[in-house]
Amino acid sequence: MNDYYEILGVPRDASQDQIKKAYRKKARQLHPDYAGPESEEAFKDLSVAYETLSDPQKRQMYDLGGPEAVHGGGAGGMGGDGFGFADIFESMFGGSSFASSSGPIPRARRGQDQLLAVEVTLEEETFGATKDISLDTYIRCPRCEGTCCEPGTRPQTCPVCRGTGSVTRVQRSLLGNIRTQTPCSACQGHGSTIPSPCHECSGEGRVRTRRRMSVDIPVGVDNGTRIRLSGRGEVGPAGGPAGDLYLEVREKKHPIFTRRGDDLHTWITVPMTTASLGTVFQLQTLDGPREVTIGAGTQPQEEIVLKGLGVGRLQRSGRGDLRVHVDVEIPRRLDDRARELLEQLADLRGESRVEPHRGDQSMFDRLRDKLSGQ
Ligand SMILES: [Zn+2]
Ligand SMILES: [Zn+2]
Repeated sequence: MNDYYEILGVPRDASQDQIKKAYRKKARQLHPDYAGPESEEAFKDLSVAYETLSDPQKRQMYDLGGPEAVHGGGAGGMGGDGFGFADIFESMFGGSSFASSSGPIPRARRGQDQLLAVEVTLEEETFGATKDISLDTYIRCPRCEGTCCEPGTRPQTCPVCRGTGSVTRVQRSLLGNIRTQTPCSACQGHGSTIPSPCHECSGEGRVRTRRRMSVDIPVGVDNGTRIRLSGRGEVGPAGGPAGDLYLEVREKKHPIFTRRGDDLHTWITVPMTTASLGTVFQLQTLDGPREVTIGAGTQPQEEIVLKGLGVGRLQRSGRGDLRVHVDVEIPRRLDDRARELLEQLADLRGESRVEPHRGDQSMFDRLRDKLSGQ
């Protein structure tokens, strides 16, 4: 076992100050992070020597009885031959406690994802659209361009941790010396400090602002669909990459059409006579006006299907259908003339004294389906 005074390179009557200075100087030369793993043994010896001589009580014991007197060797059989508790501790936890576990923490981090609701009409869902949106977000600081430093200045290596981002503390315990690494408080573990933080962003490298942008709404989105715009969320601190922006589709209520899947539904009401005689009328669809034929004898709740005039599809090509539900209106009040004509019609059709009969079951099925939202 080497002499502790020799290891530190100080005389036997060195002051605490001299010991401390000598240790700092040598530790810098021998730290395995700088001098390589071969220096680890020498660095350990240096640490043990310093811990002993920097503690007046231990130093006294060492002066009187050598290392064994300090480290309790001999009697327990564990301290002899330089096999100290620190070594046991290290072998228990594996590896070298000097190795830097993570290195400095980078200042630049990825920005947060953002979520923004956008109102989309049925027309936009069907044909796609480009929308102008604005959102509160972080953008790269225009003054320092994300470097966090005032223009013309640079970050400096942290003098406390010498750029490693962490400091090793040695604590004495019953089991020997425990070395723990904690993030350097002088630089928050970044390994560097910013002597002149940018005035615009206070050294964050980004500023909050309201940003406008154009976004594409793809064909076929639905209420609740989330559209991911990669890299268009918040810019990260210190020039870190931007997160993603998610647009959540809020379908705007349409005055005429209701969407169910890819199909559109609309409800029209025609007079009893029109349902009986049939007609052709114009319906305003998403694609402009279209002629719709109501056949003679159209029944209440009948459905007229206009193929391909529904909503665009996100996954498959093509479009859903437009379904026109027909309601038939029975006049609530008749004047004398109308009543006379209807009675004549009833006589003609032999319906004047017809008993009520069981209805058309399929019509009730359709009605039930409609009520249950099918
Ligand atoms: Zn800045
Ligand atoms: Zn530091």
